[in-house]
Amino acid sequence: MTILTERDAPTPDGINPARARRAVRALYTGPALTAADLSAPLLALPDGSIGSGSLPGAASLASVPATVARWAELGIAGVKVFAYGHDRDGRASGALAPDNRMVATIGAVKDTAPDTAVTTEVCGCSWTDHGQCVLRTADGGIDLDATYQLMADMAVQHADAGADVVSPTAMLDGSIHAVRQALDEAGHRDVGVNPNLAIHTGLYGPFKTLMNTDPRAGHRRGLQLEPGRADRDTIVQARRWINEGADSLTLQPVMTAVDVLVRLRDDQRVPIVAYSTSGEWAALQALGPNGIVEYLGMLKRSGADQVLTFAAQAAAEYLEASRA
Ligand SMILES: [Zn+2]
Repeated sequence: MTILTERDAPTPDGINPARARRAVRALYTGPALTAADLSAPLLALPDGSIGSGSLPGAASLASVPATVARWAELGIAGVKVFAYGHDRDGRASGALAPDNRMVATIGAVKDTAPDTAVTTEVCGCSWTDHGQCVLRTADGGIDLDATYQLMADMAVQHADAGADVVSPTAMLDGSIHAVRQALDEAGHRDVGVNPNLAIHTGLYGPFKTLMNTDPRAGHRRGLQLEPGRADRDTIVQARRWINEGADSLTLQPVMTAVDVLVRLRDDQRVPIVAYSTSGEWAALQALGPNGIVEYLGMLKRSGADQVLTFAAQAAAEYLEASRA
C-alpha cells in the first residue's frame, strides 16, 4: 500500500499544488524541442522521377536551393546529403567522378545556406551495380583494401567540396580509421567523422526503393547489428568507432530502438545523431504534426543531440506556428 504524506497528496481538484502556478510550471518545463535539434535528409535525385515513391527532402539539383533555403529559414540545423548514383559499376567509379551529383549538391547547399551543417553519406551502395555497400573481390568476398580506399577517397572529395562531417555507412571495421587518416592527410582535420550504427530493420524500405540501393542479390545483414542483441552490440561497436577516430555517432533506426539510444547515451559522451529512418516517416504521419513533435522531443530527452528526420520540415513548421 502506498502511503501519501500530506505533502504528496493531490489537491481535491487533482492538481499537484507545487505545479499549480503557471510560473512554476514554466520554471520546471525542461528543454523543449526546437528546430535547431533537427537535421533533414536531402536526397539528391536526377531530374524527373527515378525509382518509385517519394519522401520529404527528395530534390533534383535545380530544386536544392529552394528546399535548403526554406529549411534554413525555419532554423533547421543541418542536412545529410544522400546522392542517387547515376553511373553504377562494379568499382563504384561514379562515386569519385569529378562534379558528380554529391559534389554538386554539397556546393549548392553551401552556396544557399553557408551556416547549415552539411553531413554526407560515404558508402558504395548508391554507386555499385550490385547494390552492396562494399566492393567485391572476383570470388564474391569483400575487397577490404579497395573498399577502405573508396571510402577514404569519397570522404576527401566531399570535404574538398565543403562537407562539414562525413558519415561512413557501411559498418566495416577499419574503415573509420582509414577515413580519419585520409582526411587528416588531405588537410581536413576539422571535418568530422560520424559513422553509422545501423540495426537490421524493415524501416529502411522507402529510402532504398527511392534511391534504388537495395542489393541486387542477398542482403547486407552481415554488416548490420542484430536487433535482438542491439542493446549490447551497439555499445561494443560504438566504442570501436571511437577508438578508430569517430567524433560523433549516428544510430538508426530509432523508433524500434529507443532503449538502445538511452544505453548508448549512458555509455558515450560524443554527440549522437538519432536517425529516424524513412519507414518511420511513413508511420509518423498518422500522429499528425503535434504527435511528431512529441515523438522527436522524446528522442531528444532520450539522449539524441540531433534528430535526423524526414519530418524535420513538418515539425519545424509546427513549432514556428505554435510560437506565433
Ligand atoms: Zn551503403
